[in-house]
Amino acid sequence: MNYILEKAKNTHDLNKDEIIRLLKDDSISESLFETADYVREKTLGNSVHLRGLIEFTNICKRNCMYCGLRRDNENLKRYRLSEDEIVELAKKAVAYGYKTIVIQGGEDDYFTKDRMVSIIKRIKSFDVALTLSLGEKTFEEYKAFKEAGADRYLIRIETTDKKLYNDMDPEMSFENRLDCIKNLGILNYEVGTGILVGLPNQTLESIADDILYFKKINADMIGIGPFIPNEDTPLKDAHGGNFTLSLKVMAITRLLLPDINIPATTAMESLSPNGRTKALQCGANVVMPNVTEGEYRRLYALYPGKICVDDTPLKCRGCITSKITRINRVVSDTKGFRGQR
Ligand code: SF4
Repeated sequence: MNYILEKAKNTHDLNKDEIIRLLKDDSISESLFETADYVREKTLGNSVHLRGLIEFTNICKRNCMYCGLRRDNENLKRYRLSEDEIVELAKKAVAYGYKTIVIQGGEDDYFTKDRMVSIIKRIKSFDVALTLSLGEKTFEEYKAFKEAGADRYLIRIETTDKKLYNDMDPEMSFENRLDCIKNLGILNYEVGTGILVGLPNQTLESIADDILYFKKINADMIGIGPFIPNEDTPLKDAHGGNFTLSLKVMAITRLLLPDINIPATTAMESLSPNGRTKALQCGANVVMPNVTEGEYRRLYALYPGKICVDDTPLKCRGCITSKITRINRVVSDTKGFRGQR
């Protein structure tokens, strides 16, 4: 098995069969994590990029089976921040030292192209990098956001298994999802995608295909999240994702794409105490602390057990910095584009 890790370390290339063997064999997990950590350090050094995350609306017109924000969830109190509130949160995040702001929300049609362009321009006046996570938009909308100054866009493919995708995301089109990701690349965004690990009926073979897809499109950022069943969704009785498997998917992704940005996701820490610290030691180089304030942190209820919902943005900033320094890493003072330290 070590020859597969050696090959990955030296060539950053694996075939589907080799990836499946790594995913299947838990006896190599620690060696895999060490190799991913080595590749991360060699390529990107010890910097960790912090992204200040603003969850600006929990209203969504979609109905994804796994997501607490889905349209049919009537148990969730909905909120939508005003433009001024969003810009004010971004301003505070910059004052806390964040070099990147991420604005993320459900697919909420209130935020038209013109409203988003205005928000983007105002946030970009603070001299920060800006990442959008707004779901599926038209080419023209993506283009307008880019021209307004947006730098990056996150849109998870969730799974590259078309049947599973259609089961999980009813009313949505797998082809359109692929097109969105392609269009963002054409428009020169830094493109982030990713998957949920542990969806019902997901196989290791399909996860191997997902990883090869990340490599094929040469994604700039990859977010891997364990699927955590939400009480208020049709998948409430599903098993959910496994922390170790999620880490392994992340580590293999690091081996194949050595210079990209990979977040230690909040969902990992919701599954395992110190999950983000562990992820940072298995290939991750980014953390996205929440800079949303007050009850909105709790109401952005993608999955249960979400961490830090009662904390303040300032407390999160201090907490994550101490976690990073405790493992001899440093918070980067750059905007953290792909390959930057
Ligand atoms: S995953 Fe995204 S698009 Fe789907 S319901 Fe949740 S917020 Fe909406």
